[in-house]
Amino acid sequence: AAKDAGRGRFHFYAENLHAVAEARAEVEKDLRKAIVQGELQLFYQPVVSTASERIAGFEALLRWNHPEKGWIPPDKFVSVAEDSGLIAQIGEWALRTACHHLASWPAEVRCAVNVSPLQFANRELPAIVTSAIAQAGIDPSRLELEITESVFLNDDEGTEAMFAALKRIGVRLALDDFGTGYSSLGYLKTAPFDKIKIDQSFVRGATEPGSRNGAIIASITSLAQALDMDTTAEGVETLDELDLVRMHGCSHVQGFIYDRPLDAAAATERLRTGLAAVAKGPRSSRAPR
Ligand code: C2E
Ligand code: MG
Ligand code: MG
Ligand code: MG
Repeated sequence: AAKDAGRGRFHFYAENLHAVAEARAEVEKDLRKAIVQGELQLFYQPVVSTASERIAGFEALLRWNHPEKGWIPPDKFVSVAEDSGLIAQIGEWALRTACHHLASWPAEVRCAVNVSPLQFANRELPAIVTSAIAQAGIDPSRLELEITESVFLNDDEGTEAMFAALKRIGVRLALDDFGTGYSSLGYLKTAPFDKIKIDQSFVRGATEPGSRNGAIIASITSLAQALDMDTTAEGVETLDELDLVRMHGCSHVQGFIYDRPLDAAAATERLRTGLAAVAKGPRSSRAPR
């Protein structure tokens, strides 16, 4: 009987795996169409300077407006895009689109674009970035590329050469989701980051009694300051969290407490009324999702 149960479980897993593979194939097929039919969009979430309480820039975030399923968040399709190789095309489109929008915004406003480790491993990336900047006619220092720690997994000369090439272009580099990956502080010795983004998992719960997250945030900001890097606290939703990350020295804040990601028209409208940012949200309880 035990053996039968085991076999049953095996079938269950196999069928499940099969269903997952089929669903991913379906997403891939739809995604190819989406690229051609222009269903992908970039939304822009304000990043606010804690010192000036003004919008310093935006982070560009990918959204898919699916004709039947509606809005699909990146967590649902970026990994499929990576596995299928479509991320090269999507990533280049995102860089060009963000630069295009940047060109219409005030010169002191920056924009960050997420770069997949697969794009980072492609030798063509510096040429693509250079071309996107030139085509839009923007100052390279207005563009920030967000890279995760996973690029250090294949720790070879290629990684170092890529950092050097991107810095030569004059773009800014940010280390995204800091503290959640295969962290080693070793790479901070040489990698030329301008900013560390503190992952929202450290902000979540940081204001609860006994939480160690505040201590971790404080250490990251003091490390970043010593290395002359900015810090953005991600996912700040409440006034208490905002007070906490300011107290611990984060130079920038990004989160629903200021703004959700906005479509390009709304982002432009947001800037038209000025760069001043006003925190609005609950004191302590997080908003329902
Ligand atoms: P990320 O780069 O860490 O982006 C921050 C995520 O936090 C975004 O989720 C944003 O909407 C969300 N967020 C911001 N403020 C708050 C808040 O106060 N509360 C909560 N709960 N969430 C907040 P999103 O847009 O769903 O993106 C998820 C991830 O997808 C991104 O994480 C990034 O890793 C990836 N991604 C997004 N756009 C692109 C892209 O163009 N290329 C690539 N390769 N990846 C992308
Ligand atoms: Mg990011
Ligand atoms: Mg992040
Ligand atoms: Mg993330």
